[in-house]
Amino acid sequence: MGKIGIIGAGSVGATIAYAALIRGVAREISLFDIARTKVDAEVLDLNHGLLFAPQAKVDGGDDVEVLRGADVVVMTAGAKQKPGQTRMDLAEANTQICKKILPEVMRVAPDALLLMVTNPVDVVTEVALKLTKLPWQRVVGSGTVLDSSRFRYLVAKHCNVAVQNVHAYIAGEHGDSEIPLWASATIGSIPLSQWSVEEHGRLTSADKEGIVKNVKEAAYQVIQGKGATNYAVGLAVCNILEAILFDERRVLPVSGLLRGFRGMEDVCLSLPRIVGRGGIEAPLPIPMTVDEESGLRESAERIRAVVRGLGY
Ligand code: NAD
Repeated sequence: MGKIGIIGAGSVGATIAYAALIRGVAREISLFDIARTKVDAEVLDLNHGLLFAPQAKVDGGDDVEVLRGADVVVMTAGAKQKPGQTRMDLAEANTQICKKILPEVMRVAPDALLLMVTNPVDVVTEVALKLTKLPWQRVVGSGTVLDSSRFRYLVAKHCNVAVQNVHAYIAGEHGDSEIPLWASATIGSIPLSQWSVEEHGRLTSADKEGIVKNVKEAAYQVIQGKGATNYAVGLAVCNILEAILFDERRVLPVSGLLRGFRGMEDVCLSLPRIVGRGGIEAPLPIPMTVDEESGLRESAERIRAVVRGLGY
């Protein structure tokens, strides 16, 4: 059982800590935030629930030393979307925060795997990779794990089946240019294109369009209503943490560096990859239609343009 260090004790960081605590993911969870009163209060509140969770230690503070010796450092610090803002609008501000904090993280936790959650997550993952010079396997972005979960939920709801029996991925940017990989989607091993089961319906083109629109607008909708997204991202990140710390070799659509995937390279985006203790492996050779591939290429270009625009 390892130690998780979390940078940022805001809505996302604190909820990841809560999810990790109740799921027994680590022996120690340490929160770091520059907002001292906030981080101390979150740590206190989590400690008050220790009795009801698997055994763990929770601590934190405004000194980066709390991250010392972490096996995985989760980056959630930074600006979040205000209603109407896109994730890409946060690139400049959140890159500056990474520039400030990551060298300090490397000093106290040089062996840690970095799990980036701060948005725009694909841009931030590439910036982190370049700033830290860590091997590509050890810098992971939460990517479209959350978007794919939203996607699977909506398909499952439409077809009235358990979400766990839907296998389908969103690839590319965690953001507006993301791509649904319909061609490889299945329910209980039946390709979605062939799904036609009495009382469980089928998916028309209009249904598919509606689902994709809903996935893309999901964060905007939640932010409009409550100011932040936290529960689903908390569980999604916890799922990635389990894959890493328990060396599960789980297939997850995390963001990571492409080093020659269908001719694409030198950009971080999401595709299904095997995730374990060593971090990420190269993307799996998932089948794609011509349209899906060209959409992925456009998404890659969009991310690349923002990263280059920031000077990385
Ligand atoms: P928040 O405002 O609630 O929390 C951010 C925290 O970061 C604050 O507590 C702040 O004090 C802290 N912080 C700022 N600068 C810091 C620094 N230099 N060092 C340490 N801490 C610092 O925001 P949130 O809702 O928790 O969102 C955090 C980030 O996560 C945003 O960028 C948001 O867009 C992103 N996010 C990503 C996903 C995803 O799937 N990747 C999902 C939801 C949110």
